[in-house]
Parts: sequence; structure tokens; C-alpha cells
Amino acid sequence: MAGGGNAIRGSRVGAGPMGEAERGDAAPRQAVTYFCAREHRSVVPFSTEAQVPDSWDCPKCGLPASLDSDNPPPAPKIEPYKTHLAYVKERRSDKEAEDILDEALSLLRTRRKSGDIIF
Ligand SMILES: [Zn+2]
Repeated sequence: MAGGGNAIRGSRVGAGPMGEAERGDAAPRQAVTYFCAREHRSVVPFSTEAQVPDSWDCPKCGLPASLDSDNPPPAPKIEPYKTHLAYVKERRSDKEAEDILDEALSLLRTRRKSGDIIF
């Protein structure tokens, strides 16, 4: 039952990940450094009471920046959807497109033919 109270003593520490705001008793601000994919280093001031977001738009280039200098978020231009679409377009050669058109036409003819039979 002995040794309680440690957690309560440390509860008002609002330091950032680097401990920069450790001495900020008078100034209720902390400087948080963000890193973007273009290796910009942006220091953004936050209130010590504010919750520091994990990511921030780089003020220099507008790319998303993160707290981790070794692992900045990738530029949003690399979207999986667009890459996939480009890949599909690239793969579909003219001949392939012809085959697809051919298949569609014959399917259409078959449907018309069977339609004739039914009516
Ligand atoms: Zn940047």
C-alpha cells in the first residue's frame, strides 16, 4: 500500500515530444516541429493546453508534415486509385480494346437473336 502519489505529481507536464516546453511556465506555448516529404522543417507554436496534432500542413509547400523526421507522410499526389487507373489504361492495348468491343457486339447480337426467337 506504500509508494502512491507519483502519478499525481507529474500530471501538469505539457511538454512536447522534444521536451521543448519544459521551461514554459510563464509562456503557455510550445514549439512543435513538423517535417514534410520535401524535408522542410516547420516550427509551429501551440498552446501547451492544446492537443498537438500528429500531422500539419507544411507552411512552405502545403504537403502534409508529421512529427517524425525520419518518416514524413508521403505527398498526396501518389494516390493508389489514380495509379491503379493509369495501370489499367496502360495495360489495355488497342487490340484488347477491339476484343472487348467485339465481345460486346456479339453479346448484343446474341441477345437480339434470342429476343427475336422469343417474340
Ligand atoms: Zn514542405
